[in-house]
This record gives sequence, C-alpha cells and structure tokens, in this order.
Amino acid sequence: MRMMKALVHEKAGRPNASIKMVPYPTCGDDEVIIKVMACGICKWAEISHDTVGGGGTLARYPVITGHEFAGIIEEVGKNVKDLKPGDRVTADNAIPCGYCWYCKNGKPLYCENFGSHGHNRNGGFAQYMSIIAKNVVKIPDNLSFDEATLAEPVACAVEALDRADVKPGEEVIVSGMGPHGIILAQLFHHSNAQRCVAIGLVESRLRKLESYGITTVLAERSDCSVHEAQLEKMFPNGVDIIVDTSGSWPMVQSLIKFLRKGGRFIQYGSYHSQIQIENPAKFLNDLHYNNQQYIGVSCQVNNFPRAVEYMGTGKCKVDMLVTHTFDLDDYFLALDTNKTDKSTLKVVIHPNGKPEG
Ligand SMILES: [Zn+2]
Ligand SMILES: [Zn+2]
Repeated sequence: MRMMKALVHEKAGRPNASIKMVPYPTCGDDEVIIKVMACGICKWAEISHDTVGGGGTLARYPVITGHEFAGIIEEVGKNVKDLKPGDRVTADNAIPCGYCWYCKNGKPLYCENFGSHGHNRNGGFAQYMSIIAKNVVKIPDNLSFDEATLAEPVACAVEALDRADVKPGEEVIVSGMGPHGIILAQLFHHSNAQRCVAIGLVESRLRKLESYGITTVLAERSDCSVHEAQLEKMFPNGVDIIVDTSGSWPMVQSLIKFLRKGGRFIQYGSYHSQIQIENPAKFLNDLHYNNQQYIGVSCQVNNFPRAVEYMGTGKCKVDMLVTHTFDLDDYFLALDTNKTDKSTLKVVIHPNGKPEG
C-alpha cells in the first residue's frame, strides 16, 4: 500500500498527536489529490488542536490538521475537468453541507454542519490530501507555495471587506498589525475608502505598510492618549469603519471613540482574555443612539478566487508574512516557535521538503 507522512491528531492535545506514516488518500471521482508543498500554521486554531480538551467546535478526531495549504495536483478524479496533474494550486478548506437550513437558504457561510479540511476532514499537514475539485483554485506563477498558503486568511479578510460594504469616500481604521491586520489594511486601502489607516504596535511592520502607500499610526498601549492625539488630528470628524484584529479590549475602547455616527465596528480578532465592560448598558446604548453597527466576521466561503486575485496582482502582498518555514518532522518545534517567538508572523510547514517555487 502507498503510504505518506502526516501529522495525525487522535484527539486534541499534543500527547495525542504524532507524525507518522498513514495510507495515501483515495481520490474520489469529483476529487483531486494535492501534493502539499506548503501548509501554514493558523496560530490559534493549531494551538487549540495542540491543547488537551481543545480543538474547538469544528474539530472531529482523528484528523490530519492544517487548513491553509498549497501544492501541486498529483491526481484527478474521472469527473474532474480543468485541472490536471502538475497544476499549481491552493484550495478552499470550507465545505458547507448543502442541506441545512442556512445552506438551503443561500447562506452557506452559516452552515450548521460546516465541513473544514484541517478540522473535521483531513488537512494539509501531510504529504498528500484529497479535496473536492470545485474548491481548488490555480495560483499564478508569481506566487510561491509559501505565499499561496495565505489564500485562506486573505479569503477571510475578503469576507470582512464584503461585510463592511465600504462606500466611496469613507474612512477606515484597521487595528492590530498581526497577519490579519496586515492583510486587511491592504484590502481596505484598495477599496472604495478614500483613506485607510493602519494602527499597530510593531514599528517594522508599519514601515513595510508605509512602503505600500498605507498611512500608519504607532499604537501606544501604556498610554493610549499618544495615538489618540495623532488620530484626532487625522480624523477630526471620526471614521466610518473600524476593523479590530488586535484582540485587545483597551484598544477597542480607545478606538471606538473615533467611530462616526452611523459607523460600523467590525470585530475580526477574538478577545482571548476576560474583558470588563465597565457599563455594558452605556456601551450598547452608545451604539444604539449613534446608529452604529457591530459586525462580527470570523470565517468565509467561496472567497478563494478573489483572494488569489488580490495576491497575484500584488494588491495584497503577503511575502512579508511568511517569516519562518519548517519541515513536517519539526512541526511541534514550529508551533512552539510561533507561540513564543515574537518575530514570527506566519510559520509555514513543508511536508515534502523545501519547495523550489
Ligand atoms: Zn486559518
Ligand atoms: Zn449546511
């Protein structure tokens, strides 16, 4: 039997996970097999799989994790058109069920039985994986496999762009310059917005964004009045949209003062520590009296083609995001590095050794 190497979680938690030889996947008639050249660590998702009792609501074990993958078509099923062995591709990990209430009502994003490679179907921390062909998107030659792994986070950011529905001339603040903020700042910069300002804590990342033509503000967590004074000067009448990826409640409190009446606040990052809202009624009433919207965005379906376009045309540059790469054998070292080393943005795993392009 043909075998391959994979990271298999029998259950959530590192003691229940190992890198081992497992059977090569079978290719259904409507599926393809991808030789995985690169698979990104999605930090919070993989930490959750790595935690005993973790995994989150989507996870079903045993499973091969990894949902941000790119590679080369190895095999195609007999019904598959338009794809052939050798094609360079990424693929949408999301598989809505098609028969729940939401799917039947044209809202697959809210599917009750959301399938997701890397959570409840085998994913990309393996040498090969099978996936339904209609989810596969070819990648242009100018995108490396490492860069193409960012298609999933970019696709999620495109969802935020859709939900924000930026009107011509509106003004936007994107907060928190981790991988998601860096992607979102570029998407909003290239949207209808007349101005999109990125605010974050790490100066080198802001300088890189400045080189893309995006105005930035250095956040000052210990004394928010410093960046608030700067924003006040830039936006004396506030902004229409705030997109928060910082995961920091003090930051939200600092920025929400700049949201215009009728504005939209988009929560993109989740808040990982307990948050204390001093006066929840006042917080909600402020939204109410100011006619503001609070919008949560956390996942996507069907945005991969647009994500790959944004990346291929250079409107969403992702080369700065891949800071570290590791072999599949060093997966746990890679995850620990991602957790502890502040210089990491995206850490990418190479299940078939270092790719050439
Ligand atoms: Zn992800
Ligand atoms: Zn469904």
